[in-house]
This record gives sequence, C-alpha cells and structure tokens, in this order.
Amino acid sequence: MADVYIALGANLGDREANLRSALRAISGSERVVAVSSLFETEAVTLDGSEGPPYYNAACRIETELEPLPLLRFLQSVERQIGRPAEARRWAPRLIDLDLLLYGSDIVETDDLTVPHPLMAERPFVLVPLAEIAAGLVHPVLNRTIADLAEEAGDAGVRRITGERWDGLTGDGPG
Ligand code: ATP
Ligand code: CA
Ligand code: CA
Repeated sequence: MADVYIALGANLGDREANLRSALRAISGSERVVAVSSLFETEAVTLDGSEGPPYYNAACRIETELEPLPLLRFLQSVERQIGRPAEARRWAPRLIDLDLLLYGSDIVETDDLTVPHPLMAERPFVLVPLAEIAAGLVHPVLNRTIADLAEEAGDAGVRRITGERWDGLTGDGPG
C-alpha cells in the first residue's frame, strides 16, 4: 500500500465540476484519504502556462497500484473528463492530474518522474499540498512540504473554499 499525493488542476470548462469529477473517478477505485481546499491560481507565465486562471487542489490517496500503472490510471481519468490525449504540455486543459509523490519512492523513466520535478517551485502545488502534508519530507530535497511552501510563497494563489468542498473524504457527506 503506497501513500500518494496528486495535484489536480483545471482551467477550462466548469473548473470546480471537473475537479469534483476527477476526485469522484479516483475514489471509484482508490481510497482518497485527504483533499485540500480549493484554490484559484493566476495562470503563471513564468513556466510557460497559458490561458485562463486555474482551479487547483491536492489530494492524498492510498493505492495498491505501482507508479506507472497509477499514472496510466490518472491519464484515463483525464480522458474520461474530456482531455484529449494529444494535448500540448502547459496548454489550457479541462483537467490535469500530476503524480507528485509516491511514498518516498524516486522514479525516473521516460514517462514518469517522481517526485514531480517542478513541484518544489510551484506555489499552486505547494500551497494546497501543505494543507494535507505539511510535515511530509520531500525524498529528494529532504525538506518538509511546509518548508518548501514557505519558501515558494503564495503569490497568485487564492483559497476559495474550505476543506471537504469535494465531499469525498472519509467522513464527508458522500
Ligand atoms: P508539468 O508536468 O510541467 O506540470 P503538464 O502537466 O502540462 O506539465 P502533461 O502534458 O500533462 O504536462 O504531461 C506530459 C507528460 O508528463 C505525460 O505524458 C507524462 O508521461 C509525463 N510525466 C512525467 N512525470 C509525471 C508525473 N509525475 N505526473 C504526471 N505526468 C508525468
Ligand atoms: Ca501539470
Ligand atoms: Ca500533467
């Protein structure tokens, strides 16, 4: 059983609905144990991102899937929500599911790098993640998520709803 953290993002369509759909789809086969608040984030141009502002969140799951099968599963959820398989990197999208951390595993293959290589410099990843994994230690940088989040800051990241907006975690309504 692996303890896994996933970043969720959407900047097209009904963004909150897309994130909810993704969480619902994930929870259909994996155990979702925590979900961050929902955040709205300016489309940052520094890293090449394009288009309208994002909704972002992070979740924690427990899974029996190995890293690559888990990535394939997340990609199938993206397609199920309507993201075309051939979409360009950093292009606006209905949903983006990035595998941030897989326990303390380090994975470097053509298709998958874990921890996600840009997570430590992205406030839109670290701010939500710090809500549900503040004390977790990044296995490559050997620093806590709280520490990385503090350093990255929260510029352009605005919290828009409270915890359990998704209604999917353990003691939530659904
Ligand atoms: P970024 O990864 O910088 O956030 P992106 O999410 O826009 O960019 P995508 O177009 O969604 O990039 O994915 C490009 C490729 O990244 C995928 O085909 C996948 O194989 C690869 N990839 C490598 N590591 C990861 C990871 N940890 N999580 C998700 N995808 C990954
Ligand atoms: Ca991404
Ligand atoms: Ca992605």
